[in-house]
Amino acid sequence: MATRRYTLKSNLPAKVNWRIDYAAQLNDEQRAVVEAGGGQLLVIAGAGSGKTRTLTYRVARLIESGVRPEEILLLTFTNRAAREMVGRVRELVGEALGADLRRLWGGTFHHVAHLTLREHASELGYGDRYGILDREDAGDLMKACVAELGFHDLPRRFPKSDLLVRLVSMAVNTQSSLPDLLAEKHPHFASLSDEVIAAAARYAERKAALNVMDFDDLLLNWKLLLAERPAILAAQGGRFRHVLVDEYQDTNRLQGDIVELISSVHGNLMVVGDDAQSIYAFRGAHFANIIGFPERHPECQVFHLTENYRSTPQILGLANASIEMNVKQFPKELHATRGDGALPALVPSRDVFEQAAFVAQRLLELRDEGMELKDLAVLYRAHHHSLELQVELSRRGIPFVVRSGLRFFEQAHIKDVLCHLRFLANPRDELAFKRVIRLSRGVGGATAERLWQWMLGRESERASPLDAFLRKEALAEVPARAQASVASLQTLLRELRRPSLQAAPGEMIRAILDQGGYGEYLRETFLNGDGRIEDIEQLADFAGAYENVDAFLDEVGLLTELEAEDVVDGADPDEHLTLSTIHKAKGLEWRGVFVIWLADGRFPVSAAYRDPDGLEEERRLFYVATTRAKDELYLCYPITHTQRDHERVVMKASPFIEELPEGEGAPYEKWSLEADDALPPLPSGSTPPLLES
Ligand code: ATP
Ligand code: MG
Repeated sequence: MATRRYTLKSNLPAKVNWRIDYAAQLNDEQRAVVEAGGGQLLVIAGAGSGKTRTLTYRVARLIESGVRPEEILLLTFTNRAAREMVGRVRELVGEALGADLRRLWGGTFHHVAHLTLREHASELGYGDRYGILDREDAGDLMKACVAELGFHDLPRRFPKSDLLVRLVSMAVNTQSSLPDLLAEKHPHFASLSDEVIAAAARYAERKAALNVMDFDDLLLNWKLLLAERPAILAAQGGRFRHVLVDEYQDTNRLQGDIVELISSVHGNLMVVGDDAQSIYAFRGAHFANIIGFPERHPECQVFHLTENYRSTPQILGLANASIEMNVKQFPKELHATRGDGALPALVPSRDVFEQAAFVAQRLLELRDEGMELKDLAVLYRAHHHSLELQVELSRRGIPFVVRSGLRFFEQAHIKDVLCHLRFLANPRDELAFKRVIRLSRGVGGATAERLWQWMLGRESERASPLDAFLRKEALAEVPARAQASVASLQTLLRELRRPSLQAAPGEMIRAILDQGGYGEYLRETFLNGDGRIEDIEQLADFAGAYENVDAFLDEVGLLTELEAEDVVDGADPDEHLTLSTIHKAKGLEWRGVFVIWLADGRFPVSAAYRDPDGLEEERRLFYVATTRAKDELYLCYPITHTQRDHERVVMKASPFIEELPEGEGAPYEKWSLEADDALPPLPSGSTPPLLES
């Protein structure tokens, strides 16, 4: 494709009186990027070196030099990041120039795809106003397709519709085939690959007939327009004289193609990223986009930023020492510009409860020392690693937001499990019963309601709705195809009622997962089924510390109440601590950062050892985590953990810690906790987890 060159200089007014003092606010390396002419620019630089800041100033500079906001396209990792950057540009250039920054297109790829398709979808055969299917709608539509094809009645279990939707999405984003994906991710379904392909095809037809797109269609269709409709490429490419992309290392193939196409008209493309922070391979991020950029654009200018403005030399020293161990990377220089601070602390704790207690206590101390809660974050590899901490924070009334998704106890799969226990504890809990019964194959809302009414009708002084449900006759109230699954729920609930289990809430939860078949259900329903199973195992470990199921449910109930209040005495209600997975913390920074569960097998996850590139990806994740911290960094892990079989095992520290120099040259200081410092107040009625042998 012909590339027309455009240089910034030729377009500049003879003399601009710059409003912004670039020299004062940027270092020379950053300024060189901001002031570079047009063409392709690659900025590849380590964490905290000002990539995002440089991108923001470049946008401001373009506007100052006369580029109109509507001629700029800014692609970012979240829509919020784009809004913040544009807000900053507004502050920098002011309104005086008459530039209307609302006309600048900024946001995620999906957001911009939607803006584009609103104008042009009809050219791809869509009706005027196409609808968007969110994940839930997509699951429902897929379910209808599977039913229509008769696959829900196959003698073998067919993958659940949500899983099918995710598989199709993965295939689109990684541009791989469904049979390959099935073989790799779900070998037990591999023999059904013809049926899966048929379901995917039907799903595509139905979407077209309904005039709707799912999230992946947005990207696919945007690319299709640019690649196959020269007029649209000319119009859109012609409009965006400058295309700028942040976090470029995590773009996938489709996104990479879109960026290339749209910038091909003017040839002005600026991408910034850090190969050492590429952490989305599992979702199809295509490393080659950033690594191969200079080959694709032999005339591009490559810039390096080597000064880190975020972290103390001590924090940066640890992060650099770690990432150096990766073989696959561009070696990079990164010097600290800030003054000395404390060494990062390595904090082993006796178990997860002590880890949570330590974090909570240290947070409050830092707050007393003048940091605000909003300057602090706790990061972890997997969402369920935050369970004990969420409980501890709630007990102490420390307000927090969870960036990585729902609060632990609000997640659907956790609620599913808890509702089994709730129904047993209170057989009149209609909501709990209905939630549980609807997990049975073949039971929908109408059946659940009919059954519940029947159960109420059988209720007497001596028999609860639960007793009624456990009778054989209950099966006559459900359709034939649901009987087998409802019968197995009866068996499970009978088992759970045994007094020995009532005293062991952890065991009850495991019984639901294993005997009750909930684990199997999760595996068949969700692409990340295994992750959800781990969450529930974690819940079982946690529940195991309580004397009986009532004590456990009381505590969980109390948590939900506390969460509603969520305020520390005298604190600003907007003031809260951030809890986040590392993936969701990309690009952000806090004064104090805690990384928890830094134990081998948890971070890195054990699966990483099976994948040749797995450990390096996990180490990049560790690099992202540590480089979020400005002033203080705490690396925490439990030394022991109680397993399913009640065996207390010794945990090893993460290899990312073990491989760092030890002794004199260690980039961290090891702390040992005195038990008195760390004991949390105990919930009434529970066995003190910390005092367990
Ligand atoms: P990441 O790789 O984590 O996305 P980044 O390279 O995008 O980081 P920024 O977030 O842009 O880095 O900058 C990190 C911090 O350093 C920010 O608080 C930013 O304002 C500050 N900073 C960057 N450059 C300068 C500078 N020249 N002068 C003062 N502060 C700076
Ligand atoms: Mg950034």
